[in-house]
Amino acid sequence: MQRYFHSLLGVLAIASLPLFSMAAAEEFDLVINHGRVMDPESGLDAIRHIGILAGRIVAISEQVLEGTQTIDATGLVVAPGFVDIHEHGQSEEAYRLMVQDGVTSAFELEVGTATVGHWYNERAAGQVLNYGISIGHIPVRMALFGDEGTFLPTGPGGSGIAGPDMLDRMAQMMRQGLVEGAVAMGFGLAYTPAATQTEFEMMLAIAAETQASVHIHTRGGLEGLRQIITSANKLGTPLHIVHANSSGGSSINEFLAIIQAARDTGQDVTTEMYPYAASASDIASALFDNWETWEEDRFGRQMWVETGERLTRESFARYRQIGGRMISFSRTEEMTRTALRHPLTMIASDGRILDGKGHPRSAGSFSRVLGRYVREEQIITLMDALRRMTIEPARRLEAFVPAMTNKGRIRVGADADITVFNPESILDQATYVDPIQPSAGIEYVLVNGGVVLDNGVLDPTVRRGIAIRNN
Ligand SMILES: [Zn+2]
Repeated sequence: MQRYFHSLLGVLAIASLPLFSMAAAEEFDLVINHGRVMDPESGLDAIRHIGILAGRIVAISEQVLEGTQTIDATGLVVAPGFVDIHEHGQSEEAYRLMVQDGVTSAFELEVGTATVGHWYNERAAGQVLNYGISIGHIPVRMALFGDEGTFLPTGPGGSGIAGPDMLDRMAQMMRQGLVEGAVAMGFGLAYTPAATQTEFEMMLAIAAETQASVHIHTRGGLEGLRQIITSANKLGTPLHIVHANSSGGSSINEFLAIIQAARDTGQDVTTEMYPYAASASDIASALFDNWETWEEDRFGRQMWVETGERLTRESFARYRQIGGRMISFSRTEEMTRTALRHPLTMIASDGRILDGKGHPRSAGSFSRVLGRYVREEQIITLMDALRRMTIEPARRLEAFVPAMTNKGRIRVGADADITVFNPESILDQATYVDPIQPSAGIEYVLVNGGVVLDNGVLDPTVRRGIAIRNN
């Protein structure tokens, strides 16, 4: 701490002294010089020089700094590392792709896990980025009902009615998850059609006790959204609605207006989106329970992830028996743009890469927004896009997760989670056919001061990522 204050004083002194006094300044582990520093929290957008010591930002200077290691960020944007609060691919494979998309903290908060302590233990050896998990209503239900699905329910985890005994055990497991450090509580009401309003509100009340935010995949369209907002308001539970773009679909304007109206009354409710027109999910999940009523052409808009083939009624029926991942081309580009134009939507990938296959959003969400929608289409400004990727997701979590007060910012004292990119060339490269192409234009990524992406090259031996828990 003493050293930290010393360097703070050093920086204050530097600002008013000529350059030659630099030799007397604190030696930094790493400096990032000449970059255009953009910090959405403070609004700073100027050429600054950043000094990093012991994993923290200790100087943001108008003067060039000297350090053991130097990054020249001339022509590049220096931003807080991106915080993804919706990423299912919590594996080494996904983490590496995400770092190459500028992400420095990745959270799985919608589905979550039933075994929080175990989940953190599995990653304790060190990761390339920071990570965290929610206690998940879906996996808790799957565990209690003995559902055989590997990720989402394919049987009683979604369709089983919970009696009083089961509800008690469910409540106990949800509480235990928070005790073990879960950063939020996750729900996928569309995947658990048998979960009653009573059951749902019982779990919301547990979250309200600790002020953990609940991250919810809604069900029942606009009316379902209203009901969830009313329940959270009644119980005082901080609420986050996942992927407004896919849950809102063609009603995206109304969907976001309902959330905005609740916010205008002072309710704590936030939301997010991913920047793609296609969804991805498990073919055997409750989302597609009505498949037998579909028009023929809807099957052709479904892609079987394993082979890349488009489906027919016949092949859909066959694969639904087996289970597995499907990408649905279900929305228009204009719906994506509408969701992005609304100031409420944070950017979150909703990604899930497994063995090189899946939706391109795991690898490309953040650079896609910055390249396609900021630079090419100018739908939102660069600073506004960064706000939705950094400070907003950090703020979403920080009341319950104190570690997040030092993420998502370029600020003296904040963790040195920093993404340096070229605003002229940043662009997603991952596609539906080739979903693991790393993004272009991301030059450096620092996680707690460690340079895990160096001049565009990933160094997976730099494992400074830490577990983020609620305490
Ligand atoms: Zn999801």
